[in-house]
Amino acid sequence: MSSAFTILSNQPSPPGQPGHPADLAEPSAAASAILKAATSTLPDLKSMTRVELATWVKGSLGESTFRANQIFRWLHGRGARDFATMTDLSKPLREKLESVARIGGLVLEDVKVARDGTRKLLLKTSQGDRIESVIIPMDDRLTQCVSSQVGCKIGCDFCLTARMPLRRNLAASEIADQVYWANKVLEDAGQGERLSNLVYMGMGEPLDNFDQVVGSLKILMDDHGQNMGSRRITVSTSGVVPKLERFGKEVPVNLAISLNASHDEQRSALIPINKVWNLEKLMAALHAYPLAPRRRITVEYVMLKGFNDSLEDASRVARLLRGLRCKVNLIPFNPWPGSKYERPTGENVDRFGQFLVDRGYTVTVRYSKGDDIGAACGQLDGNQVAPE
Ligand code: SAH
Ligand code: SF4
Repeated sequence: MSSAFTILSNQPSPPGQPGHPADLAEPSAAASAILKAATSTLPDLKSMTRVELATWVKGSLGESTFRANQIFRWLHGRGARDFATMTDLSKPLREKLESVARIGGLVLEDVKVARDGTRKLLLKTSQGDRIESVIIPMDDRLTQCVSSQVGCKIGCDFCLTARMPLRRNLAASEIADQVYWANKVLEDAGQGERLSNLVYMGMGEPLDNFDQVVGSLKILMDDHGQNMGSRRITVSTSGVVPKLERFGKEVPVNLAISLNASHDEQRSALIPINKVWNLEKLMAALHAYPLAPRRRITVEYVMLKGFNDSLEDASRVARLLRGLRCKVNLIPFNPWPGSKYERPTGENVDRFGQFLVDRGYTVTVRYSKGDDIGAACGQLDGNQVAPE
């Protein structure tokens, strides 16, 4: 959905201001390393979890786990993009690494800053595909929305990303690098801001890129790297039912599910995979999901005017979710040029939300930040219908 983001400022900010592009351009050595990687078949060390890296370092270099941990810390704690910068490794080892491995990642091309402080990072893969990642300020939090694929093959009728065919899966290194670039953008802004939450709600269906998404999560949660807490991370899926249980067992992050409809016919019209994994199968998988104690599944519901925003819909949703440990997040539709749906009125959104609140559900509304900005992914602006 994030590609519907409206760019308000294409102009670089003054130095010291958010969005000032000082140092954003990739240092040329590292940029060329990443571009060279487009044709490289060498293993991408940055896509390996620490366990995988230790196995590789032992097998290919005959070096210890201690060495692997050093490399991991360089890659994921300090965001190194070049073996040459790993100064506590011996020169011969660095040279060896250079010839037998590569460091995957992205090149930061541009940062656009919206009037409300939301920043969009435009990033390029080694194959020249462009993706985006958004940093959204909310109260005292900063949430980053990352992409997991270039395009998406699920084909939801209301989503701009779906207009783009799936070009490819992102590697774990490319997912994690969105976070490292965001850290750098915030560091350069010099206002002491730090990311507090991470949502996989940008371009792509995370569960369709299962291994790389799980790898990126293990990497980002590793205490030798970013050490991000699992409670601060949410992965959103359109409902790839057969992969849900395994996902929950692999990584204990928060799960968001895009329900978006109140009955099968409606959901199949919006999300084509509902014809295969219908609401009955989806709800069974959600009830069986290995949810950690005191956690709840976030149920996302994109509200489309005159399509799924009636009280009858709210009533069906209340029935569907009965007994599920969940909270509901209503997302008023963010229109994009050529979209056939419209955003419902605020009154309808409130009415729908209140109906669910009256039946005991926790409901939040995710408005895009200000009317002057189009859609951005993962906007949880705390506009609560009911307190959590
Ligand atoms: N593929 C995953 C994650 C990316 S989409 C998924 O579908 O869950 C993240 C969220 O944005 C989903 O809940 C999706 O339903 C919602 N979304 C997509 N396009 C939107 C739009 N134009 N307006 C509002 N929400 C949208
Ligand atoms: Fe868009 Fe998510 Fe549907 Fe893919 S699965 S088309 S990203 S809403």
